Amino acid sequence: MSKPIVAIVGRPNVGKSTLFNALAGENISIVKDTPGVTRDRIYADVTWLNHSFTIIDTGGIEPESSDVILSQMREQALIAMDTADVIIFLTDVRQGLVDSDAKVADMLRRSSKPVVLAVNKVDHFERQMMDVYEFYNLGIGEPVPISAEGKQGLGDLLDQVAAHFEDSRSAEEGDEIPKVAIVGKPNVGKSSIINKLLGQNRVIVSDVAGTTRDAIDTTVRWNGKDYVFIDTAGLRRKSKVREELERYSIIRTVTAVERADVVIVVIDAVEGITEQDAKIAGIAHDRGKGIIVAINKWDAIEKNDKTVNEFSGKVRSILSFMPYAEILFVSAVTGQRLPKLFDTIDMVLENQTLRVATGVLNEILTEAVALQQPPSDKGKRLKIYYMTEVAVKPPTFVVFVNDKKLMHFSYLRYLENRIRESFGFRGTALKFIVRERR
Ligand code: GDP
Ligand code: GDP
Repeated sequence: MSKPIVAIVGRPNVGKSTLFNALAGENISIVKDTPGVTRDRIYADVTWLNHSFTIIDTGGIEPESSDVILSQMREQALIAMDTADVIIFLTDVRQGLVDSDAKVADMLRRSSKPVVLAVNKVDHFERQMMDVYEFYNLGIGEPVPISAEGKQGLGDLLDQVAAHFEDSRSAEEGDEIPKVAIVGKPNVGKSSIINKLLGQNRVIVSDVAGTTRDAIDTTVRWNGKDYVFIDTAGLRRKSKVREELERYSIIRTVTAVERADVVIVVIDAVEGITEQDAKIAGIAHDRGKGIIVAINKWDAIEKNDKTVNEFSGKVRSILSFMPYAEILFVSAVTGQRLPKLFDTIDMVLENQTLRVATGVLNEILTEAVALQQPPSDKGKRLKIYYMTEVAVKPPTFVVFVNDKKLMHFSYLRYLENRIRESFGFRGTALKFIVRERR
């Protein structure tokens, strides 16, 4: 299931980071087996009651002068309007309603995205409510009083946010057309691949009133079947600040990946694989998406009979947290193996939704346990009672055990490998949930 994206927008010092951290809490997704992948707090996964969503912080503004602040706020708002399903517009009751708030509110009002207005630093609800009402004047709805620091009012805020989820996603959830996100660093050849698939040069960058947005989904028909390609390349933001560009590109990647069933991580063969590629791949891995690593520009490499193996080896070692990923050597210029790309997408899609019958799964479990004894600690041995697949996309297994603490990561990995030996599940992560049953 793709999770909704929620963006926080607001002036410097209104408390965006504080709110972000309060919402993300311990839920921030740090995957233990993703080495070298640092998670800066640009995005985090949040679970609220029965809602899961991804929250993004549209970013740092250096408060220099008021007109710089305003232009950067506009930039933030545009990023949010580009990427988010719901926007939280955060204001500060202590500073009161200021002019730049009103200007950004005007922008947000014109966008089609739902906006929830939050007024922060309401540490004393009774005393400050009169000041909160002032924010009605922004004309973007009822202000929700919160204290990000005191963790007050967050439930009400999230209720309002979640109320908008239904309509934003249901349209997309219903259709059966596979969605494929093409992600990767700049200049690895993302647009070239899409253009080649389309068989024509399409102008992707559309410059609407100083912003670059829209029209990044492309439907490609292949063998009578439709695929939607979500392109992150077309949107290039003009910013002189490197960190801002990086933040924007990560936000774009997260939002594209979130909507996708299968993610193609494009890597430049000439440049070789880097840690930044791993970081991008890690975003897809964390989200349990189907993954294909496309090594592009394969035409430009001098090859002998060892090149493929050597290159694969390097990719496997840098992407060691996702050994299941499919690797393809392609060229957007010559079109080499692009047809194979579609076969691989189909295969990965199938694996993402593959269901293994519980009986079969437990036969594998019994055999696995017999071959390699589960770990023990202080004389107590892990007992695994039962295993069942409870969800797909990604395939998710619940393992019932006597004591969760005894389940080592390495033993789970072992069980995963046994399952993969029987069913492959190539191109997709598998998720395991360990539950205690006494
Ligand atoms: P950002 O620039 O919008 O990300 O703002 P920060 O999250 O960095 O917060 C700016 C300042 O406001 C910090 O000193 C916070 O401690 C403070 N702050 C944030 N939330 C609250 C709140 O609910 N109540 C009060 N009194 N202060 C807050
Ligand atoms: P993007 O930023 O990831 O969308 O990258 P582009 O599609 O704009 O490509 C960046 C550069 O790499 C362009 O100069 C392309 O012509 C070149 N390029 C892309 N794909 C290939 C390829 O398969 N082989 C070679 N030799 N060059 C390529």
